[in-house]
Amino acid sequence: MAPKRQAQGAGSSSRPQKKTHVDVNPETQDKLHAWVLGDRSTPWYNDGDILLKANGKFFRVHVSVLAGASGYFQDLVPSIEQGEKLFEGCAVLEINCSDRKLRHVLRALYKRSFEDLSRLPETVELEAWLHLATNFRIWPLRQEAIDCILDAYPPDLKTFEDRLEACCVAESKGNRTLDAMLVAFLAMDHDLDTFLPSILYACCQSRLGMLGIYQILDETQRYAKRLKRQKFTFDAFFDLYGDIMEKCYAGFSRLAVAHHDLLMAVFDAKFSPRCDQTLECRITLGILRERAFVMGDRPSIPRLDWLKDLDTAGKLCPPCHEYTRQITAVKRQEIWQRLPDIFDLDKHPDVAHGPRGRS
Ligand SMILES: [Zn+2]
Repeated sequence: MAPKRQAQGAGSSSRPQKKTHVDVNPETQDKLHAWVLGDRSTPWYNDGDILLKANGKFFRVHVSVLAGASGYFQDLVPSIEQGEKLFEGCAVLEINCSDRKLRHVLRALYKRSFEDLSRLPETVELEAWLHLATNFRIWPLRQEAIDCILDAYPPDLKTFEDRLEACCVAESKGNRTLDAMLVAFLAMDHDLDTFLPSILYACCQSRLGMLGIYQILDETQRYAKRLKRQKFTFDAFFDLYGDIMEKCYAGFSRLAVAHHDLLMAVFDAKFSPRCDQTLECRITLGILRERAFVMGDRPSIPRLDWLKDLDTAGKLCPPCHEYTRQITAVKRQEIWQRLPDIFDLDKHPDVAHGPRGRS
């Protein structure tokens, strides 16, 4: 079993520094003014009463909005109120994180007037929400990120099958394998291990098999490099690459075995006790068995009606179909419950979190 990865790198190691006022002594107020306006970023509200500075960029926002969402900022309100107002009556607070991350979090806090709620977030946005929501104690924002993941990768099999085409992040552009891979990196980097079984299972559903998984892993690597060039600290991608590849590789072959075992369980059960045409059904099951195994093992859980779909001529009697369906239903759940072992994960999916039904 792979060792559990410690949270590290840009993902989660650093906490924001407390009340660090901007460390400059501009000779005149005009110079400070020009400096701030030259490096201002959005969101920027002219009636904002605090300047946040991150990575050389300034954001003008409202103390009330920050304190209303974040326990971290709530604790800072007294020192902000008492502190020096360096720019147009605003206190200036330096935040120890990338300006892009802070921007994503501020946009999310102001989103009712700022954002199109129906669009999918980008990977970097989700990452910023998960990272800074934890550091600044903005729990609804962390839950928002988790809900986005759960909506595309729900922890129960039936809902998962209803959401097979769903994606979680914008840049996957409908490519479910790429989407699952990007989300797998995020989930592993932010200790969301309980959501990994369904995410990694989705990774293994590439139509191109293991080759498809390798291609998508390479694509996510290239994407992470692009982000790095844009100064977005996403080092965790590189640390996690091997871990995800191992899990997919192990899971892929174990799922194929589980698929084969389910088929065997159905065919070995022979016909239903209520069958009144046992000879015909026995012959039909023999033909279907050959057909099923010629199609080969797949790294997936067969659909509930897989045998009915295979019996195109409808030769098997209804009680036998119902019988095989019941066996399939039990075995399907068994495989789904075993996903944490199949992917060498430590925990079971946490079914307490339901999908949110985001459209
Ligand atoms: Zn029968």
